Amino acid sequence: LFRLSLQKQVSAVRCLNRLYSSAAPTTKLFIDGEFVESKTDKWIDVHNPATNEVVTRVPEATQNEMEWAVESSKRAFQTWSDTTILTRQQMMFKLQNLIKENLKDLAKNITLEQGKTLIDAEGDVMRGLQVVEHCCSIPSLQLGETLPGISKDMDTMTFRMPLGVTAGITPFNFPAMIPLWMFPMALVTGNTMILKPSERDPGACMMLVELAKEAGFPNGTVNVIHGRHNGNTVIMKPSERDPGACMMLMELCNEAGFPPGTVNVIHGRHDSVNFICDNPDIRAISFVGSDQAGTYIYERGSKNGKRVQSNMGAKNHGVVMPDANKENTLNQLVGAAFGAAGQRCMALSTAIFVGEAKDWIPELVEKAKKLKVNAGHEPGADLGPLISPDAKQRVCELVQSGIDEGAQVLLDGRDIQVKGYERGNFVGPTILHYVKPEMKCYREEIFGPVLVSMEVETLDDAIKVINANPYGNGTAIFTTNGATARKYTMKIDVGQVGVNVPIPVPLPMFSFTGSRGSFRGDMNFYGKQGIQFYTQLKTVTQMWNEQDAQLSGSQTAMPVMR
Ligand code: NAD
Repeated sequence: LFRLSLQKQVSAVRCLNRLYSSAAPTTKLFIDGEFVESKTDKWIDVHNPATNEVVTRVPEATQNEMEWAVESSKRAFQTWSDTTILTRQQMMFKLQNLIKENLKDLAKNITLEQGKTLIDAEGDVMRGLQVVEHCCSIPSLQLGETLPGISKDMDTMTFRMPLGVTAGITPFNFPAMIPLWMFPMALVTGNTMILKPSERDPGACMMLVELAKEAGFPNGTVNVIHGRHNGNTVIMKPSERDPGACMMLMELCNEAGFPPGTVNVIHGRHDSVNFICDNPDIRAISFVGSDQAGTYIYERGSKNGKRVQSNMGAKNHGVVMPDANKENTLNQLVGAAFGAAGQRCMALSTAIFVGEAKDWIPELVEKAKKLKVNAGHEPGADLGPLISPDAKQRVCELVQSGIDEGAQVLLDGRDIQVKGYERGNFVGPTILHYVKPEMKCYREEIFGPVLVSMEVETLDDAIKVINANPYGNGTAIFTTNGATARKYTMKIDVGQVGVNVPIPVPLPMFSFTGSRGSFRGDMNFYGKQGIQFYTQLKTVTQMWNEQDAQLSGSQTAMPVMR
């Protein structure tokens, strides 16, 4: 297999997989409190990224099944939104406890389907668990505002009311954390939610909804449908009645050398993502994933009058000042660039060395070389495989494009062989230096264990580069100088800033505040913003007086309430 070109390896792996996929167990839908076998004839294989063996098959839910999920969510909302805030709080306490008890099993499933190391998978669950813990404070989080005596015998109060049926669409890279950013927040505020987890690793999400059932959340409060949106860019949508000629043309485009992603085709009339965007009973959509999907869902959902919060891709820069603590900084950089095989939206994927800090680059390379690449469940593994052969191919091509455009490869992990896992999608730590902003490997999110690195003369130069980048998810500066740190935090146009903290993902008492190209919408995930997203304001003005005073005649002028 490894004598073949990368492209051929990818095709060969796909052929092998087809042979035994039909024997794999199926992932169920979760509708109205029950795990349901889909009646679909369209199935998506989920592979263990370390071996490429099929571990489960995920259904593309049928139109009837998706409608059933909405009906169930609507029905559940009627009673769920009437439950007391303390009932919802108590269920959150139970859920919190159950997640803790099942943490190891959740992590095992994440490693199996997503590939990350077990310890990292536990972190995935823990960061989601912290949102559940935050939700346990709902009685104070959902407080409204009141102002008594706004006029004679008159008081005004604002309530935070639930929206109704909401939906969550999640990516592959945090199979537990991101569903936990969504459904606990939606449910605790009195909404119901339909989840559509990533079709590439839905297992952790299924385990979480099972725990929610055990915690006492009534049937229909959370439902799960599966499916995908084939293709990344909506360029062609051939008629489902005669798609053949279109498909042949697409193949010719491939042969003619159009790079992957330039021409894509979507199929299907009843795609699950479009269903969520279009269904009039779904009031809000939480999305986390790639730019293309996020922009599409934001636009389509908003056009249909829904609230949408959309967290998307990133290019996060770590600025290394010459006065930083060298050992700490290099360790942090290596961990944040290569941990989870770089498949984190907050990975520090670009390092900018300011002035003399560039002399540390050889040591950085030495530290990166020491990382152990292995299947996620193997003891001592520092990073596991990428999610799919396609992802590996894309990452390798982006590295090559950097080399072709003049970057220097200081460490090349593309040809790595992992003993016992020869069919896995592994890429070892890779460092490209002398990268320039116009290079493709800088412009695109690589989403692999690849650090692109640059040298600049001053802090101002670094700020200029970062502020010119369209993304605004996260950044970090490494320095021992408070004034430098303060200047950076004030001048940098990025939504989440770390000072000597490489991955500054805020805890849930704050919100996840990625900005600019990394976010669409105006209310962020979790924290106060999350509560705002899942609630709407209702303002009540009431007048009570002891005498039940009679008004003297009708007043047609606008009441001014003095
Ligand atoms: P993805 O966009 O491919 O998939 C996310 C979800 O959208 C899945 O449920 C998928 O079925 C659906 N989907 C995929 N393509 C679609 C399309 N064209 N139209 C509509 N729906 C579509 O993302 P992914 O590859 O699973 O996740 C990786 C991406 O997510 C990276 O870009 C990463 O930066 C981003 N991400 C962002 C954050 C954040 O908070 N900013 C967090 C995690 C991941």
